[in-house]
Amino acid sequence: MNILVTGGSGFLGSHLCKRFIKDGHSVICLDNFITGKKENIEELLENPKFSLVEHDISNPICFGGKLDWVFHFASIASPVFYLKYPIKTLKSGLNGTHNCLGIAKMHKAKFFLASTSEIYGDPLVHPQTEDYWGNVNSIGPRSCYDESKRGAEALTYAYMRSHDVDVRVIRIFNTYGPNMQLDDGRVVSNFIVSALKNIDLTVYGDGDQTRSFCYVDDLIEGICRLMNVDYKQPVNLGNPGEYKMTDLAEMVIKSLGSRSKIRFEPLPQDDPKRRKPDITLAKKILGWQPAIPVELGIKKTAEYFAKELKK
Ligand code: UDP
Repeated sequence: MNILVTGGSGFLGSHLCKRFIKDGHSVICLDNFITGKKENIEELLENPKFSLVEHDISNPICFGGKLDWVFHFASIASPVFYLKYPIKTLKSGLNGTHNCLGIAKMHKAKFFLASTSEIYGDPLVHPQTEDYWGNVNSIGPRSCYDESKRGAEALTYAYMRSHDVDVRVIRIFNTYGPNMQLDDGRVVSNFIVSALKNIDLTVYGDGDQTRSFCYVDDLIEGICRLMNVDYKQPVNLGNPGEYKMTDLAEMVIKSLGSRSKIRFEPLPQDDPKRRKPDITLAKKILGWQPAIPVELGIKKTAEYFAKELKK
């Protein structure tokens, strides 16, 4: 198949490109390199089935030939970066999704949207099921991300209803692993990099807030399974193991044998208090559940970051 992956040199996109090439598909990787980096896809550059297009998907683009799938993974997903680039974040979620849907419609390709657990906002339902409508502050600092993804979902289902585009939508819960940037700013990369440097791990607020962390290989497997089933409604993909940030910090320090200590810093505005996916649906329709425990995932990710730090 011919597959377009926007954000293809980013954290998740690069893993997807590698998996699709490994599975024998042809891949067009599109990226504007705001948060993606070429190194993530370096090993694919010489592959005749792989091509790289430098472009911002917020602006329209046409492709010749015949695409079978359009994967829209271009996004600024780290709170640190989306707070820095709120308008670009909104544009990749809204204009980018619109442009991708236009491409999918023209090519009669299937469309795959990377949505997020952030569409549930600071959830009042726990764990979060796909039928929960969410609790989002539409004008708060995180709204550039949350509302762009909510808008992206709305656009996706409008194209499904009005233009008969075949769609898949996943809501990704905190995913981590190799190819995240050292300065990504999200909690797992921050904690691991600090622990490797033996400097303080910064826990925001009192550290009682929770998240559930999925290793990237598990997520990619879930995505590939969803491509192969005819299920068009949103599906949560994440690891339901739930951790307080203080417990995560202690786990990282212990498992990396670090001399770091924990330092408390102010909690960012609208930081969700609890988050954990209900993955009953994914288990049922995909026969999928995460296989990599957080302790192991942290070690694998730390190996990657240790190499990056030496560069
Ligand atoms: N966090 C933290 N220290 C950090 C980075 C993040 O305590 O160095 C907290 C953050 O306040 C949030 C959780 O970790 O409660 C997850 O943050 P992240 O930015 O990874 O993603 P989010 O789930 O908030 O989008």
